[in-house]
Amino acid sequence: MPHDEFSRIRQWTSRSAGQEGDGLSVGIGDDAAVFAVAAGREVVACCDAMIETVHFLRETMEPADIGYKALVSNLSDIAAMGGIPRFALVTIGVSPRWSVEECSRIYDGIYEAAEQHGVRIIGGDTVSTPDALHLSITVLGEVEQGKALRRSGARPGDLVFVTGPLGGAAAGLSLMLADREKMEQWPALVMMHRRPVPRIREGRLLLASCSRPGALNDVSDGLASELWEIAEASGVAVAVDPRRIPIAEEVRRYAASAGKDPLAWALYGGEDYELVGTVPEKDIGRLQQVFQENGCTLAVIGRVEEGEQAVWLADGTVRTPLPKGGYNHFSR
Ligand code: ADP
Ligand code: MG
Repeated sequence: MPHDEFSRIRQWTSRSAGQEGDGLSVGIGDDAAVFAVAAGREVVACCDAMIETVHFLRETMEPADIGYKALVSNLSDIAAMGGIPRFALVTIGVSPRWSVEECSRIYDGIYEAAEQHGVRIIGGDTVSTPDALHLSITVLGEVEQGKALRRSGARPGDLVFVTGPLGGAAAGLSLMLADREKMEQWPALVMMHRRPVPRIREGRLLLASCSRPGALNDVSDGLASELWEIAEASGVAVAVDPRRIPIAEEVRRYAASAGKDPLAWALYGGEDYELVGTVPEKDIGRLQQVFQENGCTLAVIGRVEEGEQAVWLADGTVRTPLPKGGYNHFSR
């Protein structure tokens, strides 16, 4: 590395200075961070890595977007447990092909997402790597003891929901890879790919408002894969109506203009970071109301059924099994 490791760490993380308090007794600067967890709560922890060329391309993501999305993908995992994200640790593997300035912008993105969601960066590690840039983030959060929402919570009769439109991240990627010259015409799609929203509030509302905890998962690999995870963890069948899967109007219009299938993006594209889950049917009216009061949305897309673990697409007349895989179509 051209600049010495310690001055880089200091530069990137200066925004974390003086953040002690509110449960954090030691932040960045010592060998490890120290924080307290409130009585009656448990720690919920997750980690996600983003590797250049595997998870992102320099051509499709600005440096700040890489940092932003890396943190959001972790916040989304905490949201999918019904938890509150609180702290993050960042490991960056810096490649000689990335400038000090670009790395600093990656941190701008990390801190932007952190500030938006009340998360403090409390440590990390800095290493050099010969080639692809590597970014790995660990998020620590908290959740009421014994209340975390699992993938295994689906029961026959439950309704299946998603918290927002799907397929946008894949549409944005397809646009940037195949129709780069049209990028300016479709700014919303570019944002859907680069700046996903973690559904933290939605996760909290689900945890607080259901009469019995249902299943919860986040859409990182595509709806098909996430539904399969719920079906397998819960030992149930899931049937969703493709006509009810929400897809943004721009995504439909761009798909039509590019000769693509928007439903395939929703099912197999991934990286939308909406929540998908199940709730007892009798809770749905109250939940819809609570979501609306909090500026959130909840779209019912199907139902949990008894029987062998399976995922079905059922539109009222035709019923077809939904295969698990497919996201590699999008050459991520
Ligand atoms: P040590 O040698 O004890 O691991 P480091 O010099 O690696 O210490 O790190 C010093 C401090 O800076 C620690 O608090 C560590 O968590 C933090 N830190 C190091 N690299 C990063 C990074 N990339 N992002 C955020 N914090 C970092
Ligand atoms: Mg270290």
